[in-house]
Amino acid sequence: MQQQRRDPTEKGNGRGGQKELEEQVLKAALCTGCGACVNICPYQTIHHDRTVTLHACDLAQGRCYACCPQTPVDLDDLRRKLYEERDCTPELGAVKGFFIVRAADEGVRQRAQHGGTVTALVALALREGLIDAAVLAGEGEGLLPHSVTITDAEDAAMMCKSRFVVSPTVAEFNRICQGDAAKIGVVVTPCQAVALAKMRTQPVSEVESGIEKLHLVVGLFCGWALSWQKLATLLKTKTDLAQVTGMDIPPSRYHALEVYTPGGTIRISLDEVNPCVREACHSCGDMTAEFSDLSVGSARLPEGWEAARSWNQVIVRTKRGMDLLELARRRGVLEFRDPPAENLEKLKAASLGKKKAAASRSYAQDDSVERIEQAG
Ligand SMILES: Cc1cc2nc3c(=O)[nH]c(=O)nc-3n(C[C@H](O)[C@H](O)[C@H](O)COP(=O)(O)OP(=O)(O)OC[C@H]3O[C@@H](n4cnc5c(N)ncnc54)[C@H](O)[C@@H]3O)c2cc1C
Ligand code: SF4
Ligand code: SF4
Repeated sequence: MQQQRRDPTEKGNGRGGQKELEEQVLKAALCTGCGACVNICPYQTIHHDRTVTLHACDLAQGRCYACCPQTPVDLDDLRRKLYEERDCTPELGAVKGFFIVRAADEGVRQRAQHGGTVTALVALALREGLIDAAVLAGEGEGLLPHSVTITDAEDAAMMCKSRFVVSPTVAEFNRICQGDAAKIGVVVTPCQAVALAKMRTQPVSEVESGIEKLHLVVGLFCGWALSWQKLATLLKTKTDLAQVTGMDIPPSRYHALEVYTPGGTIRISLDEVNPCVREACHSCGDMTAEFSDLSVGSARLPEGWEAARSWNQVIVRTKRGMDLLELARRRGVLEFRDPPAENLEKLKAASLGKKKAAASRSYAQDDSVERIEQAG
């Protein structure tokens, strides 16, 4: 199918090109920084944690608009196309299984954000040839992440830990899927997973986009991400940025961002952190990366946060995700423990809370909140 010149009457009908992307997403401060519109044409690029337009394009329909997670989309339709209907829940998307796990290798756990599950699974997938390249987020200068492609399982451990500023993972996927890699895995935030799901289900042209090379989507739970500039400015009032070795967001009752330095942990009240949250995150209703093969977040355990922080909660969504988790069990790569009975319900409630907060502000047509309220 040939791309057409813009028809002004098409405005707002879910189709568009760069002009609509600019008006509806970039100028509206709704860009998540996912990178999906970058490296598919020479006109969009990343500057720090922002996506900018270098040149104007007058195509009426573009892949940039079609795959952006912030342009109109029927999420139920995406779910129907990508997941088994019997697995779908309104609060969490598809759930084939729910697990509490951690990396068996203590060295991985010590370097990781929580239980090292993501690192262990990515390394396993590379070692077993399930993927031959993985796009991860590395730490850049001044806490600005950058997306990195690795092909060696040993290198996965070098990319451990969460960066609370977006990393343009989908831009890096767009770049490497034009190269030699045949089976690519990605670790992504929920908005990035939506962009990839749109690429899989809504091709704009018959030209192969490379999306068929996507073989594994590991999603991260995500409450919000921070503006790089605002975070750096805030942290500079507390410490030297070069001293920061990591960060975490403990459960909500702590109401703090923890910043780790060789001199100890600095706790910053969320009252100070909240103004640094990226604008787009306020209208995001996906807490658990619903459009992934499996999603990983921090665990909750009856022993309390100090014990829980070295474990992960995992939602498995697809057969591919389940096969990988079961392979990890057989190879002894992950340790499993029984999930506390109430964990899944608590996760559903938290996820629903994020959906409700976002419902009135999001472009995405997600009927989950309405359906849950009607049901009960
Ligand atoms: C912005 C952000 C917000 C989050 N919010 C929550 C939350 O509210 N609740 C919750 O339970 N969990 C949240 N997480 C997930 C959590 O911090 C851990 O990533 C998750 O528990 C996995 O732990 P792990 O020990 O298995 O990770 P590790 O084994 O340390 O692996 C972490 C992986 O994440 C990748 N990564 C790091 N930063 C990014 C990024 N910005 N974008 C894409 N990939 C990245 C790394 O490359 C690495 O592969 C968030 C993560 C991010 C990046
Ligand atoms: S595709 Fe991603 S990076 Fe591009 S405008 Fe949309 S949200 Fe921003
Ligand atoms: S809160 Fe939503 S929009 Fe913001 S980084 Fe997380 S997934 Fe993306």
